[in-house]
Amino acid sequence: MSKTDFTELKALLSTPKKIAIVAHKSPDGDAIGSSLGLYHYLVWKGHKVEVIMPNDYPTFLKWMPGNDKIVLHEGNEKNAEALINEAEILFCLDFNTPSRAFGLEDVLRNSNNVKVMIDHHPQPDGFVDFMLSDTSSCSTAQLIHRFAALMGDEIPNKESGECLYCGIMTDSGGFRFPSVTSETHRIVADLLDLGVKHDEVYNLVNSASSEHRLRLLGYCIDDKLEVLSQYGTAFISLSMEEKKRFHFQSGDTEGTVNYPLSIEGVNFSAIFIESDDIVKISFRSIGDFDVNQFSRDNFEGGGHRNAAGGKSDLSLQETIDKFVGLLPKYADKLK
Ligand code: 5GP
Ligand code: MN
Repeated sequence: MSKTDFTELKALLSTPKKIAIVAHKSPDGDAIGSSLGLYHYLVWKGHKVEVIMPNDYPTFLKWMPGNDKIVLHEGNEKNAEALINEAEILFCLDFNTPSRAFGLEDVLRNSNNVKVMIDHHPQPDGFVDFMLSDTSSCSTAQLIHRFAALMGDEIPNKESGECLYCGIMTDSGGFRFPSVTSETHRIVADLLDLGVKHDEVYNLVNSASSEHRLRLLGYCIDDKLEVLSQYGTAFISLSMEEKKRFHFQSGDTEGTVNYPLSIEGVNFSAIFIESDDIVKISFRSIGDFDVNQFSRDNFEGGGHRNAAGGKSDLSLQETIDKFVGLLPKYADKLK
């Protein structure tokens, strides 16, 4: 049973500790932002902190202060696993079940440290000793601010603030999702008071695309968008060959799945991306259609009600056929 009272953890953190921070596979802005935001806070508190990610992430997230400290597990397994095993306290951020940490799953399950989860995904798995889980929070980064408050602290510096701002901004769709609350804006106000420049962070994330990436977006929308209006659904797919043609880099399709939702009457959107071994899928919805459940039930995935991911071991075309074939079953919910 994970504890939700943090008194004992606060006592533990009152003297210097060896700490490791990990986040989920294919880390996004919230995974990196919350991890580095927490990193700067814990370093300020006097701890020795390591940040380990399961695998690489897009260049538009590599500007964050402390980025050079991140150790990737993929390609550097022994070193990364040693850092986790040596840590007295292990923070697991922006995921709630060990399998989301990909290659790190077994290390997380077997390492002998005090484990702390800070996360906002539904249905958390109680694999940790301490759990700060709030599914109503727009981001894990927002919960780092709350965590510091629980420890009796404020976010101490601009470095931490920039990372947290990036996490909140990216995971809240630029402050537009229903999960954004007055607490979000109060926290952001604190971050701006630390010297964070919201326009600079926006540009670092959104104005650093390659020409290929923008052309790929155009291609996805012009050539690859399929709209199934009778189900209020639209989807995009990309094959390995198409990815190669557009010099695909990790992160190049980040956000692409949202565009179909701008069509009036479309409330469910998916993107299917072929890779060497699986088809990676992202789902988004507007309103009540629960893509977390849809993905858990059909595509071995999960996420939030309006944003989830999954995968398929079928071919790209078979995956699309399966998806389209499922829609009649959900027709009532999609109306
Ligand atoms: P994205 O579509 O941007 O990869 O992910 C959307 C949301 O779903 C994120 O919160 C992400 O953590 C979650 N997610 C993505 N892929 C998976 C998956 O395979 N399994 C689970 N449980 N969650 C996922
Ligand atoms: Mn998140």
